[in-house]
Amino acid sequence: PMNCPMHCLIFKADTRSYRDLPLRLFELGTVYRYERAGTLHGLMRIRGFTQDDSHLYVAQEQLADEIAELLDFVMSVLRAFGFEDFTFNLSTRDPEKSVGTDEIWELATEALRHALDAHGLDYAVKEGDAAFYGPKIDIDVRDAIGRSWQLSTIQADFQLPERFDLEYVGADNSRHRPIMLHRALFGSIERFFGVLLEHYAGAFPTWLAPEPVRVLPVAEAH
Ligand code: ZN
Repeated sequence: PMNCPMHCLIFKADTRSYRDLPLRLFELGTVYRYERAGTLHGLMRIRGFTQDDSHLYVAQEQLADEIAELLDFVMSVLRAFGFEDFTFNLSTRDPEKSVGTDEIWELATEALRHALDAHGLDYAVKEGDAAFYGPKIDIDVRDAIGRSWQLSTIQADFQLPERFDLEYVGADNSRHRPIMLHRALFGSIERFFGVLLEHYAGAFPTWLAPEPVRVLPVAEAH
């Protein structure tokens, strides 16, 4: 169903020191979801797809910088593909169902909020809408005909490092728990491709066109 646990095992496969952090793992991972037949839709909703999946393991004090950089990265990629109209949603804690201390929730939520503010971005706060394991930013992109698609996500996770007992040795020589960030830029590659097709109505920019140039001789002799 997902690649996250395997990345945790890679983290765990070696002794990690604070010098190894941030540790960033990435893969194009194939996943399967048994979507009901009635909900399948072109490239937009399919049962087997490829995620551009990344997991970043950071020390608590690196969290804010890592999130700020990540937001830059997300924006630069989406803009490169010609998307200019974004909606940012910040999902915060539901105290009724969440793991992790108040302190760490505060820290991560502030880091996400700060990154959005520093970029001068407008965003909606969805109070209590976070997953139980951490706050997140979801990025919706509006295509050429005004439809909105959720593509990118940046998600803090305090739960998996706990469950997998992930540790690194700090500068103080004692053991610390890293924070994990789940990050997808495109989300599903197939769906992203579908959104691109719709966005450009098939008329891709030259750099993206499967056939960028065709040479037509003006007469037989040429
Ligand atoms: Zn993940």
